[in-house]
Amino acid sequence: MPYEVIMPRLVDCVARIASGISKKAPSEECPSLPKIAVEAVELVASRLAPQSAPALYCALCYKGPYTRKGYYLHLKRVHGSEIKEEISREIKRLEQVYRGHLE
Ligand SMILES: [Zn+2]
Repeated sequence: MPYEVIMPRLVDCVARIASGISKKAPSEECPSLPKIAVEAVELVASRLAPQSAPALYCALCYKGPYTRKGYYLHLKRVHGSEIKEEISREIKRLEQVYRGHLE
């Protein structure tokens, strides 16, 4: 699974985008990554957008409130493995979607 190699970068991208510490588009935030990985990052990050900004509460465990930087660190430290699994699942799903279109 070649995506395993870039997974730490993908998790970091998700945490940056979800916490809002990055205002860049996912394709700019993770340059040189495969299109399918960028799409997976975008999907997972959108699900992890914090509850009721600007008082940021975690979308997964409802802890908080966090600053943007605090939420970024919380996502990476506490939910890193969940984010990794979500990204893997999305990549697999997107691969099937694209394969379906090609056939
Ligand atoms: Zn949490």
